[in-house]
Parts: sequence; structure tokens; C-alpha cells
Amino acid sequence: MTDNEILQIFRENSALLEGHFILSSGLHSDRYIQCALVLQHPKVAERLCSELAAKLRHLGATVVAAPALGGILVAHEVARALGVRALFTERQEGNMTLRRGFSLTPGEPILVVEDVMTTGLSTRETMRCVEEAGGKVVGAGALIDRSGGAADLGVPRAALATLSIKNYNPAECPLCQSGVPAVKPGSRTKRPA
Ligand SMILES: [Zn+2]
Repeated sequence: MTDNEILQIFRENSALLEGHFILSSGLHSDRYIQCALVLQHPKVAERLCSELAAKLRHLGATVVAAPALGGILVAHEVARALGVRALFTERQEGNMTLRRGFSLTPGEPILVVEDVMTTGLSTRETMRCVEEAGGKVVGAGALIDRSGGAADLGVPRAALATLSIKNYNPAECPLCQSGVPAVKPGSRTKRPA
């Protein structure tokens, strides 16, 4: 599938919005990605994640790990496609941790995946966490890389689509300056039609 075909699936599910948005960080942006709206359809999740798995299969991982919550479904579906296990890390008092009795054998090859990679920070935190637990990270993946490929991870990586989405400080936001009203995605519940 091409980047455009992937992005079309996101648009069809209202998961890629174009306009003027206030991100949870407070920054403004002209595009907003809400992967949960794509992943709510298991068949679509399975299809997208099997595409991602195909790009990472050669790395030979036996575990797929992801940061909770956003990455859990992606790890699960990528692991299903690869026939390996999936686990997730979660934040406890600000630190990424491996809980719930998940364990790794020493040197076990691991893929770290996310739904959307923005700066790569949560991927890097997850990589560190599973390496502290004894695993060896052999690659990383995301459905959408919105860093334009700039996030530096130090391992082979793959994404289904790469976007370069700019974030703006509100004071410098060109969309604010042109008078387009800003919206906060997800703050309103949409009623079924
Ligand atoms: Zn703005």
C-alpha cells in the first residue's frame, strides 16, 4: 500500500483531520491524527498492522512491545501477523515500566511499535524499558510517522506513512494569524448519524 492509500484509510475513518487544531501539548497544528478511530475496526487494524509487520519481519523479533495505551492494539496486531507475542509498557509515576508479570529472556529480539510517532520519545522510553528487562531492540515501527522521519531511534524502523506535520506555538501560529478558528479534537463527543 502506498502512503496515499494508507492516508485515505485514515481520512475515511475521520482519523486524519485537516484544519486548525489545539494539541494536548497546547501547540497548534494544521493536521490531527486519531489512530483509535481507525483501530476501532478490527479488520482495518489487522490489515494495516500486517502491512507494518511485513516491513519488520526480516528483523526476526520474537516479541512486539508498545507503550500503553495507544500502542497496545498495534503491538497486538503486528504480533499476530508475525506469530509472536505482544506486550506493553506503561507509565508509573512518570517512568515507563514493564508490569503485569511480563518478562523477557536475556537477549530476546524485540520490536517496539507505536500508533503515531511524533518525536519518538515514547518509543525511546519503551526501548530503554525493555532493554533494562533484558531484551534487545532490533527495530521500531509506527503506523504513521508524523516526524517526517526525523525521530532518531538508532535501530531500523518502518512506518506505513510518513508525514511532516508542523506544530506551532499559539503566538506564532499562522492559522491563528489568518483568523481560522482552532478546535480541540476529541473534546466533543460525536453523536452517531
Ligand atoms: Zn493556531
